[in-house]
Amino acid sequence: MENHDSNKWPTWLPLRSNLRSSSPYGAPQRPELISLNTNENPNSLPTEVRDAMMDAIASIAEGLNRYPDRDAVALRSALAGYINTSSKTFFDVRNIWAANGSNEILQTLFLAFGGAGRTAIGFSPSYSVHPMISNITGTSWIVGSRNSEFGIDAHGAAAGIREVKPALVFLTTPNNPSGTPTSLADIEEIAQAAGDVRALLVVDEAYAEFSDEESAVTLIRRYPHVVVSRTMSKAFAFAGVRLGYLVANPAVIDAMLVTRLPYHLSALTQAAAQVAIEHAGVLQAGLDEIKVERERVRAALTLAGLKPLPSAANFILFSGFVASSKDTWQAIVGRGVLIRDVGLEGYLRVTIGTPAENDEFLAAIHALES
Ligand SMILES: *Cc1c(COP(=O)(O)O)cnc(C)c1O
Repeated sequence: MENHDSNKWPTWLPLRSNLRSSSPYGAPQRPELISLNTNENPNSLPTEVRDAMMDAIASIAEGLNRYPDRDAVALRSALAGYINTSSKTFFDVRNIWAANGSNEILQTLFLAFGGAGRTAIGFSPSYSVHPMISNITGTSWIVGSRNSEFGIDAHGAAAGIREVKPALVFLTTPNNPSGTPTSLADIEEIAQAAGDVRALLVVDEAYAEFSDEESAVTLIRRYPHVVVSRTMSKAFAFAGVRLGYLVANPAVIDAMLVTRLPYHLSALTQAAAQVAIEHAGVLQAGLDEIKVERERVRAALTLAGLKPLPSAANFILFSGFVASSKDTWQAIVGRGVLIRDVGLEGYLRVTIGTPAENDEFLAAIHALES
């Protein structure tokens, strides 16, 4: 979040003081450019999935005069099945919550477990929405650190958690913006520290399907305070629908039910998301190509004299360019490719697109002055 002049607000507006220096979340949306800036999946929905979604929506349309299933039972059961298949677990509907994107999941967690007088900790640089929602909900946000390769030192993180005694600990793996995964052993060490101070450990696995690490959902049975947030926005190529979900102990889900808005998830979203789960295989068929492309782009960036970080996600953070991040970003935009300036001087982040989009990005890189 950028900081703006806190005097920009009219004096009659009773805006909370902790929001006066805030700006709206604002990744640029420029459809005329090749958009490699928000980590979307570049593959549009296959016809087969579109047709099934139309059928599913047609079959519920008559009942849209009624509120949707408040508890999204059918969808949550389907999500439990998806997680059980991919992680060999035994979750059911009581272990899953679903909402409009994992950002809403994060907000509902903050409403239940954060707030005034409470503290949350995250390991920076990481996903900017975590401190943003922390601030909106009046939770104090403590910035923990990552090492020079943006990995987490689990001993140091555990010590920091024992000292700060937060209510919430945030761990993004693979991390955004660096692409760095955290091993299950390191997550477990951090979970033990969180448990010792009665904190909830929120593992944000938005990019889990792109990584070879085992999911932290496998820790939930032994560590009931470990909760895992996932999304259909990236691997499922479903960002436009807005569907995120939480895998957790049933007591955590019960607390989410207290802070969610009534009927928060529309019947259209529930129906579309169920179709996506039924077609998970087709929707994720493009993941292998994205991973191959990720390694091709990384090798090409290295050959161009830049320093790309290894990534377990669908994007690459790179450094090694001569001009500032802002000027380099602008030069690449000038070539028709929108990537992300994540606010880390000396670095830029590029999302892996289709092979043709990646070629355009690499052409823009080769055109940079060196
Ligand atoms: C993209 C992203 C999300 C996303 O969210 P949705 O609201 O589900 O689209 C959550 N966490 C991280 C780390 C992300 O990069």
